[in-house]
Amino acid sequence: MKKDIHPEYAQTTVKCACGNVMETASTKQDISVEICSQCHPFFTGKQKLVDTAGRIERFRRKYEKFHQMQKAAGN
Ligand SMILES: [Zn+2]
Repeated sequence: MKKDIHPEYAQTTVKCACGNVMETASTKQDISVEICSQCHPFFTGKQKLVDTAGRIERFRRKYEKFHQMQKAAGN
C-alpha cells in the first residue's frame, strides 16, 4: 500500500449554516453545508408544523370571505 497515492483521510469539522458543527472523517478540510440533520425540516418537524398551521389559517380566512360574499349576494 503506497502512502502517496492515497488522499489524506483525516478528522475534519463540518459547519452548517444553522451553527451546528459536526465531526467527521474526510479528505476535505473545513466543510460548510447549508442544511444538516439538526436543522432540516424532515428531522426537526418544526418547519412542517409551522407551515401546516399557516395553511389552515389561510384556508379558514378564505372560507370566511366566501360565506360573507354569499350573504352579500342574498343567498
Ligand atoms: Zn444545520
